[in-house]
Amino acid sequence: MMLPAYYVTLAGYIGLATIVALGLVLLTGIAGQTSFGQASFAGLAAYATALLPGTPPPLALLAGLVLTGSVAWLLGLITARLSGHFLALCSVAWGISFSALFGTLPWLHGFNGIGGIRPLTLGPLSAADPLVTVAVIWAAVALSWLALRNLLDSRPGRAIRTLAAARDMAESMGIDTVRLSRATFVLAALAAALSGFLFAHFQRFISPTPFSLTASIEYLFMVIIGGAAHLPGALLGAVLVTLLREELTDWIPRLTGATGNFEAVAFSLVVIVLLQRAPGGLFAVLRARLPAAGAPVRAAAAAPAHAAAPPPAAGPAPPALVVAGISKRFGGLAANQDVSFTVGAAEIVALIGPNGAGKSTLFDIISGQLRADLGEVRLFGHPVGRLPARHIAARGLARTFQHVKLLPGMSVGGNIALGAHLAGRCGVLRAMLRADRAEERRLHALAAAAATRVGLADLLGRPAGTLALGQQRLVEIARALCLAPRLLLLDEPAAGLRHQEKQALAALLRQLRAEGVAVLLVEHDMGFVMDLADRVVVMEFGRRIAEGVPAAVQADPAVLEAYLGGAP
Ligand code: ADP
Ligand code: MG
Repeated sequence: MMLPAYYVTLAGYIGLATIVALGLVLLTGIAGQTSFGQASFAGLAAYATALLPGTPPPLALLAGLVLTGSVAWLLGLITARLSGHFLALCSVAWGISFSALFGTLPWLHGFNGIGGIRPLTLGPLSAADPLVTVAVIWAAVALSWLALRNLLDSRPGRAIRTLAAARDMAESMGIDTVRLSRATFVLAALAAALSGFLFAHFQRFISPTPFSLTASIEYLFMVIIGGAAHLPGALLGAVLVTLLREELTDWIPRLTGATGNFEAVAFSLVVIVLLQRAPGGLFAVLRARLPAAGAPVRAAAAAPAHAAAPPPAAGPAPPALVVAGISKRFGGLAANQDVSFTVGAAEIVALIGPNGAGKSTLFDIISGQLRADLGEVRLFGHPVGRLPARHIAARGLARTFQHVKLLPGMSVGGNIALGAHLAGRCGVLRAMLRADRAEERRLHALAAAAATRVGLADLLGRPAGTLALGQQRLVEIARALCLAPRLLLLDEPAAGLRHQEKQALAALLRQLRAEGVAVLLVEHDMGFVMDLADRVVVMEFGRRIAEGVPAAVQADPAVLEAYLGGAP
């Protein structure tokens, strides 16, 4: 081959770094979990393969993946409930301890390292040609990329995108965010392990240095510089950081005439400037200059009609919801005090009261986001007060949030499809292998049907964040409808809607009631509420002060007092 060895080597290192960075894009850029430990995962697999000489490479790879995957899984058990800075600090701790172990354990030969690792062979292709290993490395880059791209465009991929900033919302859609964030963590570690295995065979010598905390930080730089939220950012960052390091190590001694670690300083300066100028990474800058691709997606024409199946009528149905003596304090503030009411099956109940009355807190308790201090919540006859939100969702409760919780960068269709999570089963592996297409079509058809019901069928392809606030509320309602709920909790659904949109919403809620769905809604528009609700519950200062049919509640002196604030 005519390629100078230098470029072959460089291409190898860029490929190896890209694989680790792809995993980090998933973990840090998309799932929002910062890890300073990826190099140590690469090290585990590299040492595993170095300590298994004579083992066929596929078996050694398997051993490295199993070892790294198990270690990551165990670390994930401990850290998956941590978030933000705590997780990052934990990863610093294990990053340091692993690389210390690599340098200390006598059978790993310390900083003398382990040499004599055989290069990879491709059938009859020469083992001595580094180009063969580089080809294998880039094939691994392509496969990892493809697998992750498939994953991100799937049921588990949508769920992974909620991990960074919308875990509460995800749980109320039935998503197990703790399990999912552990899976994401293991997946990123496996990418690093793949890179470590290839690294050992490429360099044919390993020592603790490439698996140090410094190396982990460089991987983080790569995804931050390249663009943490997008897969191409991994490649961009790997190229830039690898080249930059090469160039700086080359040039700085020449310029300064001194030896020393000046390139680290120059490198940090470049990173700081880039973060200042392009906080979303270079990929975001590049993409903003390219013409937008892709026409807006329209609703699937033949979306099956969505029907929330009413529960089979066997004797008198229990009420959809019983709230019995709920109390909740936040420190000294009693947000809910001994609140009780029921919502019958196929009944629309409005919960009203001044701001701060405790309505949203009660919603959070009913849907499992918060635990009550006292009292009981029963859903269709079963106590649910101790269940996590995702189990309550699975029992037929869906909700929207007063402060809209959407993924602004995801399409309207994708956001709505999050509500269909429980209607699917495909996991991470099937998604990566693209074996989820039939199910995926079904979930998107559910989402399109729900969008049609709330009048958003034309906006499925738009990023949810570009919609007006009222429409974003409708997206939340469509997402909730995808759960095929038997009880729907709506927190101020009509806020920000125009008159006609409110009318359409009222018609939709009446139709849902006719289908057997119970609705509990918080709303400030009294005209809307009194026209729509079968019954009204009034709260003030955490207490229920009135309950009854709209006409009775409107004439209630306690309610008038609360709403007119004791005005003469
Ligand atoms: P509403 O939805 O009726 O406007 P909320 O349930 O949002 O009322 O709030 C009830 C009271 O509880 C308010 O005084 C609010 O400030 C307080 N509150 C709500 N959530 C919290 C929290 N997580 N921590 C402390 N106080 C809270
Ligand atoms: Mg509220």
